[in-house]
Amino acid sequence: MSATARDTELTATELALQSEVREFLAAELPRGSFVPGLGMVGGRDPEFSRKLAQRGWLGMSIPAEHGGAGRSAVERFIVVEELLRWGAPVEHHWNADRQIAPILARYGTPEQRRRFVDPICAGELSFALGMSEPDAGSDLAAVATRAVKVERGWRVNGTKIWTSGAHESDWFIILCRTSDEEDRRQGLSRLIVDLHGEGVTVKPIEFLDGTSEFNEVSMVDVFVPDDLLVGEVGAGWSQNVAELVYERGGPERWLSPYLLVEQLLREHADGLPDAYAAVVADATAAWWAMRRLSLQIARKIDRGEAPAHESALVKDIGTRFEQKLVADLLDVAEQDVVEDEPGSFRGLLFAAVLNNPAWTLRGGTTEILRTIITRGLR
Ligand SMILES: Cc1cc2nc3c(=O)[nH]c(=O)nc-3n(C[C@H](O)[C@H](O)[C@H](O)COP(=O)(O)OP(=O)(O)OC[C@H]3O[C@@H](n4cnc5c(N)ncnc54)[C@H](O)[C@@H]3O)c2cc1C
Repeated sequence: MSATARDTELTATELALQSEVREFLAAELPRGSFVPGLGMVGGRDPEFSRKLAQRGWLGMSIPAEHGGAGRSAVERFIVVEELLRWGAPVEHHWNADRQIAPILARYGTPEQRRRFVDPICAGELSFALGMSEPDAGSDLAAVATRAVKVERGWRVNGTKIWTSGAHESDWFIILCRTSDEEDRRQGLSRLIVDLHGEGVTVKPIEFLDGTSEFNEVSMVDVFVPDDLLVGEVGAGWSQNVAELVYERGGPERWLSPYLLVEQLLREHADGLPDAYAAVVADATAAWWAMRRLSLQIARKIDRGEAPAHESALVKDIGTRFEQKLVADLLDVAEQDVVEDEPGSFRGLLFAAVLNNPAWTLRGGTTEILRTIITRGLR
């Protein structure tokens, strides 16, 4: 991955945007007024999403003629980085802004853009992602959800699993089989499905701590009209691959435990014990390098490239770093982690210990990412 100084530094205009977002967050969401979250699972607050939209910070890199703000992927990177560093409630708009709007801007019909991209950019719509199935996770080409052509649309049957946020979202986009081909990656298509529609059942799956964030979604004879097919019939696989560039290379893959460190420093303003200082020094060096890699991906997207291998690399390095940081902090904490006041270092560490096993799984496992990276090296 070659880089120039311009690729890995922010320009004066970009730095001004960074300051603007920091001022907005300090005013709109002062520290202490909310329980901060770890990375992209910072909670759901449609009102906050709408406020971001009013500033033009949703759908940022979508061209203006397609309903977006017509800014750059780097500008979106800056806004996202600040939101995650703050632990802001981003879940309501997260998937819609990161993946659905760009995909519909690229493959959608004018009518789909009007119907979905406009309200996504206004912070009005939330989307879940229906890729994984009980027997198709890493091996996505094995999806068994089937859509059969009927008059004016498709009849869909199948079950999706691990569908984050489906219980609180409006729509989800599914990968499904529309024909049987020798190459399993052919014959897959993508449909937009109403999560409140007839025949759709959303069943939350409980985490160990009793909370639920993801779901099993079953579809029995669900009718999806023709105008909710995304792009061409049979082009689902290539769309999905294109989308992973947006999903894997961003700050959410290395900033999940950021607040832990910030809170630790705040609670030790008069001097950090040496053992913690060593962990924080390591983390700072790693963040510096990963941020530059991640920023380069945003620059490449702005140049019209599709850096799939680089995105996989950022997710692999980033999420393994995140897990190591939690383990190192836990080692130093030297006590059983008990749930403490939410937002305190110990409260955040407790949440990180419960959540971090998922960080290398969601969005593609480490093993799968390494396969992609290896192919990119050939
Ligand atoms: C918190 C969280 C949120 C998620 N949200 C969503 C969501 O919103 N939408 C969605 O569609 N999915 C979601 N997922 C699912 C996630 O994408 C899958 O869990 C992931 O792709 C792995 O699939 P699997 O669980 O079926 O594991 P499997 O594919 O069964 O893999 C099991 C193990 O085998 C390894 N393995 C599998 N194949 C290979 C291979 N070819 N070579 C080497 N090793 C291999 C894997 O790395 C893994 O360690 C979420 C998962 C988590 C943890």
